[in-house]
Amino acid sequence: MCGVMASIGKTALQDVYYGLQLLQHRGQDGFGIYGYGLQDEVKVKRKTLVNQWPYTSAFNIDVAIGHNRYSTIGVSKESDLQPFSNQQISLCHNGNITNFLDQKRIWKNRDYAFTSNNDAEILLAYFSNVKKTSDIKDCVKEIFEEVKGSYSVVATYCKDTIFAFRDPFGIRPLVFGKKNDGYAFASETHVLEFLGYSEITEVSRGELIVIKDNKVLVREIIRQENLKSCMFEWVYFAGVEGKVATQNVYDVRFRLGKSLATTIKQKWKHKKFEPDLVAPVPDTSRTSALALAEELGLPYREVLIKNRYIQRSFILNNQTERAKAIEWKLNPIVSEIKDKKILLVDDSIVRGTTSKKIIKMLKDFGAKEVYLASACPQIEYPCYYGIDFPDKKELVASIGNEEAIANWIGVEDVTYLTNDLLKEAIGSTNICNACLTGEYPIEVNQNDFFEERVKP
Ligand code: SF4
Repeated sequence: MCGVMASIGKTALQDVYYGLQLLQHRGQDGFGIYGYGLQDEVKVKRKTLVNQWPYTSAFNIDVAIGHNRYSTIGVSKESDLQPFSNQQISLCHNGNITNFLDQKRIWKNRDYAFTSNNDAEILLAYFSNVKKTSDIKDCVKEIFEEVKGSYSVVATYCKDTIFAFRDPFGIRPLVFGKKNDGYAFASETHVLEFLGYSEITEVSRGELIVIKDNKVLVREIIRQENLKSCMFEWVYFAGVEGKVATQNVYDVRFRLGKSLATTIKQKWKHKKFEPDLVAPVPDTSRTSALALAEELGLPYREVLIKNRYIQRSFILNNQTERAKAIEWKLNPIVSEIKDKKILLVDDSIVRGTTSKKIIKMLKDFGAKEVYLASACPQIEYPCYYGIDFPDKKELVASIGNEEAIANWIGVEDVTYLTNDLLKEAIGSTNICNACLTGEYPIEVNQNDFFEERVKP
């Protein structure tokens, strides 16, 4: 999962710089910004947060693209930071190419010189012989035939054109907006709203949009399959202030909380659980916890406060980093914890290691009982489309049923939302939920996916 942004117009570089900061939650391993003007050129890639780069308005830049990296596989290396470029095109994407190894072999046989292990270079390879703007469409057609997986792509061509396209299933989000002197693409709607763009619409699945001289030259659906928006965008990834596929993320998270209340009422009918309060694991689950508390008629309280200067723990690269981040990033409000029975709400439970540490902290600070509720159903299968859900055996769901998981995590009870209620809350059946069901919409060679791709 990554964040992408592209802009054309007088404020192109500034918009990409601030846009990427607004998309920082989508990836913190590093960033890259490429911008071009008639006289000036900017190319920066760093393994830092975006705001560590001292942006200056001194450059005259007409087109720019940028990328926040979140590495799903292997270690995070500087050489894997996007964008990548050839003579004419610079490009970056959000997603994961599932036939990466086959594609890499094909392009190596054509003597294509790769500089990294990043799958964006596969996409770039298809644009090796672009001579004029109209060639872009033929390249995208070929990509849709040959390249499998999820990809929301933004790119620059020469110094005066930007273009974007989304894979035919539309797994990863991408939106498009306009302002007086320019256009922009971004992973999330609120970024464009903040930067003053209007008429914000989705780039449809399988659609190509090309913009030059402040005009939309091409807006065309090239190939479409059934829409499969990633359900995890609403559950966790996307900013709560935005929209994904026309659905407000806030509204969906609120409905997830209400549905969770229905599930809990049903499940606890014959149990003697009587929580004193409902509390979120900050920040993503706050909206669902609020709705759940309202629906159960229980007080909503904060029991953990997040240190905002510590990175989002789920998207750190390894378990040691994640464990350290949890210790540093959550501080307890002891007066709300001591001697309380807490119904703790999390957006999802992936490996369970984060939950386990949080529960231990709550109990160490005197919580009498803790019940855990997940606003996402059990994640039972790996994700091959750009989210770091690992091998099945690393997922806490592999332990067994809710009772076994509760024992392992150290809580009195664990409740998960059901798949049907998740779909109902999202308000669409056109979603990818392969990590819940094992039904993958796009073919994957599962055997070599994880092992082969970590090699340099
Ligand atoms: S498998 Fe899960 S995380 Fe991956 S794209 Fe599908 S819904 Fe999203």
